[in-house]
Amino acid sequence: MRGSGPRLWSGLAVLAMGCLASAVAGAADSVSASVSASDSTSISASQSWVDGRGESRAEARLVDSWANQNLENLLELYRHLHAHPELSLRETETARQVAEAFEAAGYRVSTGVGGTGVVGVLENGPGPTLLIRGDMDALPVSEQTGLEYASEVTALLPDGRTTGVMHACGHDVHVTTLIAMARMLVEVRSQWSGTLVLIAQPAEEIGQGARAMMADGLFENFPRPDFTLALHVDSALPAGTLGYTPGFAFANVDSVDVTFYGRGGHGARPHLSIDPIVAAGSFIGSVQTLVSRRIDPLEPAVVTVGSIHAGTKHNVIPDEAVLQITVRSYSDAVRDQLLDGIAQIASDTCRTFQCPRAPVIGVREEYTPSVYNDPVFTARAVALFESAFGSERVVEMPPTMGGEDFGRYARALNVPGLMFRVGTQDPEQWAESRVPGSVPLPGVHSSRFAPVAEPTLSTAVRAMGILALEMLGEANPPASAPDSPPGASE
Ligand SMILES: [Zn+2]
Repeated sequence: MRGSGPRLWSGLAVLAMGCLASAVAGAADSVSASVSASDSTSISASQSWVDGRGESRAEARLVDSWANQNLENLLELYRHLHAHPELSLRETETARQVAEAFEAAGYRVSTGVGGTGVVGVLENGPGPTLLIRGDMDALPVSEQTGLEYASEVTALLPDGRTTGVMHACGHDVHVTTLIAMARMLVEVRSQWSGTLVLIAQPAEEIGQGARAMMADGLFENFPRPDFTLALHVDSALPAGTLGYTPGFAFANVDSVDVTFYGRGGHGARPHLSIDPIVAAGSFIGSVQTLVSRRIDPLEPAVVTVGSIHAGTKHNVIPDEAVLQITVRSYSDAVRDQLLDGIAQIASDTCRTFQCPRAPVIGVREEYTPSVYNDPVFTARAVALFESAFGSERVVEMPPTMGGEDFGRYARALNVPGLMFRVGTQDPEQWAESRVPGSVPLPGVHSSRFAPVAEPTLSTAVRAMGILALEMLGEANPPASAPDSPPGASE
């Protein structure tokens, strides 16, 4: 944790956040995102990796023919995964399937990395090391898509309730694509040189998986990546299209708990009590001035009090009031400013209302850091996608204040990372939904989110395949043009 100030670090256990939870409505409109690289993890690019390999057409043909030949198998795998979703940290069957596929393809496979995580490594000569990540977990949502292969899986929640389980965030597409990459890149291994690290990550939906895999030695026990790459389905885009956001794409996500202490008593005699609800109410108003008055208006920031609990009855002043707050930012400086500001305003509010004790402010240690798409990596991907798919099918997307723990890898390694998006909606329905006044299509995390399997899958596989080949080294690189990123050999 960075920053100083009056906040108390309480190290609370679990940070819950959903990927793409705040996917942007109308995101398919092309906008140019104004981003600041001041806190990025990007490295300055040397010409060798900026230019790429320049063989995109031949590679695209190779990938296309592989995707065509294997499409039926992949669709079957996808439908199976969709019908058998597993909740975060319980992805045992999915992990087993991934491990089997990696092993069958000839990878060195490790299971149980950071819980249920799977790592497959293929060393294929000198060259860069590319990490490709797919996340495996599903959501506690009862599926209502009516699809033939809809999930009927149920699971017990920690509180004893039963819930439906559904791949409502498209991680089944991600796992299918990961397995496709494992197979394809082995079959075309004569075309590239370098090291491939494929990871099937658990627990993205609760913001824990990336952290758990790193804590379990992901970058110590396996080759250290020079690039990190992932894709995510996007319900704001029609199937067959790709989206990208250069720079910051997802936010820092912090969960903060604030407890105000008062002195309880009879509601009819407030002068003999100290009312924590009034203190909390005052705080809720004041804390909004952090974003409106203290943060640079050109810097994205959100402070949302999502929960307030206090009291039991009309005429009893309680002893305490507990607030739960979500805090979103892109840069680390703004993040520190928000967290410090919350602590300061809470402390000063208590002083104002003469609370008998200072407030307790818990910032959960397991925050999710922002995702920063390296602009050079992104530009290389976009050039490649446009030449393979046509520029009308490659869309710049605005950044979102949602969270995704994929950013953790590139940040920890200080290497370029990229997460691009893959459209999922039926193109005709998508077009109808764009007419003003029409009902929006169900998005990710909805019980009715139903990606059309095709052309979603073939687009994901083709895009990831050509980009992987682009980022890996040439099979026989000329000595004068090393195809590796700056610092790769250090
Ligand atoms: Zn997701």
